[in-house]
Amino acid sequence: HGSQGHIAHADATASDGGHALSEVVPKKKKVVLLGTGWAGMSFLKSLKDPTYEVEVVSPRNFFVFTPLLPSVTCGKVEARSIAEPIRNIIRKKNVDISFSEAECIKIDPQNKKIYCRATIDSHSKGEEEFAVDYDYLIIAVGAQVNTFNTPGVVENCHFLKEIDDAQKIRKNVIESFEKASLPSLSDEERKKILHFVIVGGGPTGVEFAAELHDFVNEDLVRLYPKVKDLAKITLLEATDHILNMFDERITNFAESKFGREGIDVKLGSMVTGINENEISTKARGNGKTTSEPYGMVLWSTGVGPRPLIKEFMKQIGQGNRRALATDEWLRVEGFDNIYALGDSATINQRKAMEDIAEIFKKADKDNSGTLTVKEFQETLDDICERYPQVELYLKNKQKRNIVDLVKEAKGDAAKESMELNIEEFKAALSEVDSQMKNLPATAQVANQQGAYLAKCFNRMEECEKNPEGPPRFRGTGRHRFRPFRYKHLGQFAPLGGEQTAAQLPGDWVSIGHSSQWLWYSVYASKQVSWRTRALVVSDWVRRFIFGRDTSG
Ligand code: FAD
Ligand code: MG
Ligand code: MG
Ligand code: MG
Ligand code: MG
Repeated sequence: HGSQGHIAHADATASDGGHALSEVVPKKKKVVLLGTGWAGMSFLKSLKDPTYEVEVVSPRNFFVFTPLLPSVTCGKVEARSIAEPIRNIIRKKNVDISFSEAECIKIDPQNKKIYCRATIDSHSKGEEEFAVDYDYLIIAVGAQVNTFNTPGVVENCHFLKEIDDAQKIRKNVIESFEKASLPSLSDEERKKILHFVIVGGGPTGVEFAAELHDFVNEDLVRLYPKVKDLAKITLLEATDHILNMFDERITNFAESKFGREGIDVKLGSMVTGINENEISTKARGNGKTTSEPYGMVLWSTGVGPRPLIKEFMKQIGQGNRRALATDEWLRVEGFDNIYALGDSATINQRKAMEDIAEIFKKADKDNSGTLTVKEFQETLDDICERYPQVELYLKNKQKRNIVDLVKEAKGDAAKESMELNIEEFKAALSEVDSQMKNLPATAQVANQQGAYLAKCFNRMEECEKNPEGPPRFRGTGRHRFRPFRYKHLGQFAPLGGEQTAAQLPGDWVSIGHSSQWLWYSVYASKQVSWRTRALVVSDWVRRFIFGRDTSG
């Protein structure tokens, strides 16, 4: 039987005539994956179903462990240690996966085709362009640095997004100290060269400021004794606080630690422009503008959509959004075979209030027009799965159980009956949508989405037999996909001096040396391969013993 199947396959691919035969061995479904970052890598690692043929297209043939990029900027970790060749990852799979080093420049959903341009430097040939057909397209191209169109940023600032960026920063820091040590300069000039400015008080900007401070004070002061006192670090933040996505305790700790260390944190400072010599800011309170000479600027103020995504959103009528909108199953709105995840996408979470009539109807199993407490309770899990905001709402109202919710919605009428009509049901849930939140643009989200999508693909066949159909609370099929649900595992903010702030689920906050050890162990364990794990750990050990490498 086996040999027959083999022949049938050969026949079907050799000519189109063997229609009956090609049904015996169906053609593999072609999945095209754009991007080899967190989302893409995680999808590849979790994909198991060998009935797919996968083509990966990315301008980068390696995955980067981005949380350790700030460590590369000051030589705590080597660049190579945080990059894993994508071919190492796909080689280990029993799924048919190929890779093309190219960037996608256009998506044509009508013809199920993408257009690509090779990014390999070639001396002889010009730019190579090609098209790829797909059955399923997975968009995981990430996002790009957002400059908010501030003049001079692109020309004069460093960014920290890729390995090259981190290496350039490291070289620039060391070169600055060399330059400032030359005999011909005035002190004024030296001060300018050694003025390091960071724009953006988010986790990346703060971690870089801390790394740089440690680098200067632990290694460079000994090596450049003449100029050590001239170095200055300024952190500019447009809002009232740095690390404002973290618990207040962490923000306060970081601000006062930086204050003690002489890192100049300027809150409420909007950068209005940067030229070759000066950076200009506007103070939020009084609108006063000031300009300061600088030697080096790191721009780290968040991300926006890549040109490919902007163009695609225009094409499909999503207009001017921050990211590509998908449903809770990560499908691009309006397309059954295009998925988007990670930083390039955002989930268009449904509002419970918009579906309230449907929810009510489904919950009212006996069609009585009213819901008993029991009926309400029984649908609640399904409601929470489809509308995570409901779960958040209930959690935030801790003490309140369903009976209390019902009592509150019915007011005085609760004394007579505990059954809810639709209006009362609406009232009970009226505030839940205020709990809706976009997921952050983090590796944690991208990683979980990649794994989720791969699981869906692994089970696609099974699920096609039981189509996803209506939202979960309206059905009971066990084989359908569940919508993607993010599980927050916590977040770190390294603050320098072997101290880290950790905020774990349930707003559990810990700051200090012990969380630094937690940080080391979490980031060692999250490495994508044993190879990078070994490299990263040995970099850490080397740094403890010998300090950072300062050759520029
Ligand atoms: P990316 O990881 O950016 O991957 C995008 C991929 O798409 C890349 O391979 C890119 O080359 C490729 N690509 C780009 N354009 C195209 C194209 N046109 N066609 C095909 N491929 C394309 N998150 C955390 O959770 N914790 C942290 O500690 C943390 N620290 C960070 C530190 C730094 C310095 C940075 C920059 C980010 C950090 N993040 C952290 C955020 C995290 O890295 C991102 O949220 C995550 O990388 C998003 O994953 P992604 O797959 O969507 O995009
Ligand atoms: Mg990716
Ligand atoms: Mg990445
Ligand atoms: Mg996203
Ligand atoms: Mg009823």
